[in-house]
This record gives sequence, structure tokens and C-alpha cells, in this order.
Amino acid sequence: MSRNDSYGGYEQERFLDKVHPRFECPICFKIFKDPVQCPNQHHFCRSCIERFLLSSNKCPQCNCQITSKTLQDAPRILTEMLEDHDIRCKNANRGCHEIVKLQFLERHEKNCGYSPTPCRNEGCNEVLNKNEIEEHERERCEFRLIECEECKMMLVFRYRRSHSCFLRKEIDELTKRLEMFQKMFKEQMKLNRDEMMIHVEEQMRLSRNEMTFLTTETTERYNFLTGKVKIFVCGGRDGENRLNSVESFNWDSNCWQQEPEMNEERSGATAFVHNREIFLCGGWNGKQPLGNIESLNVDGKLQWKISHVMLPRKCNAHSMIYHN
Ligand SMILES: [Zn+2]
Ligand SMILES: [Zn+2]
Ligand SMILES: [Zn+2]
Ligand SMILES: [Zn+2]
Ligand SMILES: [Zn+2]
Repeated sequence: MSRNDSYGGYEQERFLDKVHPRFECPICFKIFKDPVQCPNQHHFCRSCIERFLLSSNKCPQCNCQITSKTLQDAPRILTEMLEDHDIRCKNANRGCHEIVKLQFLERHEKNCGYSPTPCRNEGCNEVLNKNEIEEHERERCEFRLIECEECKMMLVFRYRRSHSCFLRKEIDELTKRLEMFQKMFKEQMKLNRDEMMIHVEEQMRLSRNEMTFLTTETTERYNFLTGKVKIFVCGGRDGENRLNSVESFNWDSNCWQQEPEMNEERSGATAFVHNREIFLCGGWNGKQPLGNIESLNVDGKLQWKISHVMLPRKCNAHSMIYHN
């Protein structure tokens, strides 16, 4: 029998047939897991007695002196009798119906397709069965990486809609729907009166759904296009160092996310937005004030580039007003 990282023995209910009470650990009252004994042959789960001995040096049954080093393995006859019992997999409540001899339990559980397995995609907190995880990570996960068919850029699935190619496609589709809707409406008007009575209710319902869809979609698109959905925090000082790190807050997903770093560390810089580009101007880099400007196009390849336009002089903690 082998060690296990979880504390305590096996629940009696997991066994197919009731296990004799002599196999119960006097500390956790469950069935022995990896049993050990004191010199007077009192048996305990290894994890139970080792935890007990952190605050004592005596056997809880007979008070003889023991430490975790002087614990002995339980006699083979006991472990063999124990190992012969049929037990359910610990993932039974996750769907595993496997029943194995206790001696093969560890081997099964190591490979059990129902073991809880956390998704490896960054940002995803989902825990799935081991046999589902690959499909989830590849095809279902909100945080999987996908390639934009048009520009080949890698995107996080969840945030794909703020990517410009996707935006364009969605707007095209919206326009098509709107045109179809108009056509449908015109055709409806051409129907004769009787037919119209039959169709009118159904058409009204369809029209209402379509209008609701169009309104919410256009509002969302508008928010993306006007940059309402994100707040950017660029550079600054964390008390010791000047920063070139950039984070953004996404209203849609309600969380902060890391953005590409600026080329320069900047504290006391000013920023403004022009079209869909963020501009960071001047600032102090730790040694001197800066005269350059760098920009990030939030729709393009997310990368800061130094602008060919310079400030009239090197400066930090200055004011800047974008007048339009
Ligand atoms: Zn125990
Ligand atoms: Zn003892
Ligand atoms: Zn299993
Ligand atoms: Zn995931
Ligand atoms: Zn693209």
C-alpha cells in the first residue's frame, strides 16, 4: 500500500462490502490507509498518526514513546487482508463507476479519466474530468487561443470580438441582417389582406426579436468602437521603480488584463487618445525627462511604437490638452 497526500483513511461507504471494524483507524474512524503501528501493535493510518505526533510523542492508544521515525509498517497479513477488499474509485461522484481491489486503487486513480483536472489555458479557472480536458482546452474553453482567419493574429477566444477583423465581420453581418429585415418588411406589405392577417402576428413577433437583437448588437458595437469598454493604465511609479507595464480593464469581462509593455519606463507622462490610438508623451524614466511619444493602436497589432513626432522639449509632470 502506498502513501497518499490526502489525510485520513477510506470511507467505509466506498467499499462494496462492509469492512470489519478491526480495520478502522482509532484517529479518523475510517478504514486504514497505508497503516503503520506502534511497538505494541496499535494500528493507525500513516497520515493520521504522523499528524498526531506533531504535537505528541506517545501512542494515543497505549502511551508508549514513539516518533514518526520509529513507526513500523503494519504486518503483511493485515495489509493483504485489507487490500483484498473491493472499493469504488474516489471519482465515483464525478461519474467513474470503476470498482477495484484496494491494492489496485492507486494505479486506477492515477489514470482515472474522471480525475478533476484544471484547465491549462491562462485565465481559465475551470476544473473538468481528465477525459474531457483536451476537448475543453481545444474547442470549448473561453480562454483558448484562436487564429484570426484574416490577419493570422492569435487571439483569446473570449476577447475576439474586440479584435478589428471580427468587428468588421460582425458589422457586415449586422448590415446584411438589416437589409434582409427591410426586404422582409417590404414583401409583407405586398401581401393581400387575408394573407396578411394570417402572417401578421408571426411577422410582428419576428420583427420584434430582430429589432431587439439589432439594438443590443449595435449598442455593443458602438461601445467597442468608441473605446468605452476599456480603461488603460500605462506606466507610472510603484514607489521604487518607474514602470513600462500596461494594464487594461475590460468592462465586458469585468477584469484587468496585461497589455504589451511600453518601450520606455515613464512616470509623470501625459496620455491622450486620437482616433483608435493611445498616445503616451514624455515622462521621467528614472534618469531624465523624455521628449518622445509612443503610441498603441488598440485595433491593430498590439505593439507600442515610438512616434516620429517629438514633444517641443523633454518634460515630465506636464499638462497636455487634446483640443478637437
Ligand atoms: Zn486514520
Ligand atoms: Zn500503542
Ligand atoms: Zn475512477
Ligand atoms: Zn478552460
Ligand atoms: Zn485579424
